[in-house]
Amino acid sequence: MTAPTAAPPTAELLPATMKAVVLTGPHHHEIREVPVPEPGPMEVLCKVDSVAICGTDLHIYEGMFPGRWPKRYPFIPGHEWAGVVVKVGPGAEALGWRVGDRVAGTSHAGCGFCRNCMTGRYNLCELYGQEPLHHQYGHYSQGADAQYVVHSIKSVFKMPPELDLSLGAMVDTASIALHSVKRARIVPGDVAVVVGSGPMGFLTADCAYALGAGRVIMTGSGERLKKAAAMGFETVDYRDGDPVEAVKARTDGKGAHVAIDTAGTRDSVLQAINVLRKGGRASFTGIPAEPVPLPMQKIVLEEIDLFGVRANPNAMEEVLPLITSGRVRVKELVTHIFPIEEYGRALETFAKRIDGALKVLIRPNG
Ligand SMILES: [Zn+2]
Ligand SMILES: [Zn+2]
Repeated sequence: MTAPTAAPPTAELLPATMKAVVLTGPHHHEIREVPVPEPGPMEVLCKVDSVAICGTDLHIYEGMFPGRWPKRYPFIPGHEWAGVVVKVGPGAEALGWRVGDRVAGTSHAGCGFCRNCMTGRYNLCELYGQEPLHHQYGHYSQGADAQYVVHSIKSVFKMPPELDLSLGAMVDTASIALHSVKRARIVPGDVAVVVGSGPMGFLTADCAYALGAGRVIMTGSGERLKKAAAMGFETVDYRDGDPVEAVKARTDGKGAHVAIDTAGTRDSVLQAINVLRKGGRASFTGIPAEPVPLPMQKIVLEEIDLFGVRANPNAMEEVLPLITSGRVRVKELVTHIFPIEEYGRALETFAKRIDGALKVLIRPNG
């Protein structure tokens, strides 16, 4: 005889419709009542607790990627989120998925069949864009800015019980930061420069320390750079003079071993390369909108390694313990929380950095 236990949430208790942020065209959205999606094989339906807004959301909102992100309207955005599993699709239970699991979500779900997926680089899936084999949630597959979302079990990750559920919305960004410092192959004692003092910069700096960097120097300006100093990083204000010279002056004239560009501008890309010492490595998480003329003399003659960074392959599970132990700090970066009805205000607060906004969360279920 087993003791009676509280019944877990079941499909019967789920509503038929939900509130969602629906993009209807560039610069336009509505809060609509739409059907709650159904999880297919190896998928889970989750009740969304919180969703973080990121720079890509802003670009998607503005219609910067016509025909790609999204492929068509209407479209539900949102890809950095946390929630609770409320329904398990066929097959997923065999891999341990249960109603009630607390999860952090991410966007890429590779096909699992192509060579890149098979070798772990599912962020470079050869079937990118081909649903239902591939998904990138919140980019071209329906996202999490809604009360419920369906994800492949490839793109949800169980959260440790000690981590506050809403902070799960920060795990996606943190995992990209971790991937960026792994790509740059930090070794213990390295001097690392992080270009850009936004949320990605802070997370990258913490990840650099977690991987053994001896020193982390963050370049930027204004209030955000002050926060970087308050969080314990060395700082260089590019408004006070050439940041490359400033870094060299602090490293016996040699420069940094590693640099990570998180800003994605022409200047920031060049800065990340030029702060490096001979044999240095740089990785890049931002995409400049304009062409960047690279300093090829330095790159060739000093054997500089450059690494592109796309998303976060296999880094969600790796970064979760770093967040739980406090080595990668996420709570400090959440500055604003809005209900789903105020999505427009949330987006504006993030875009215009109103009231020192860093990471802005929406909470679809209140
Ligand atoms: Zn994002
Ligand atoms: Zn693939």
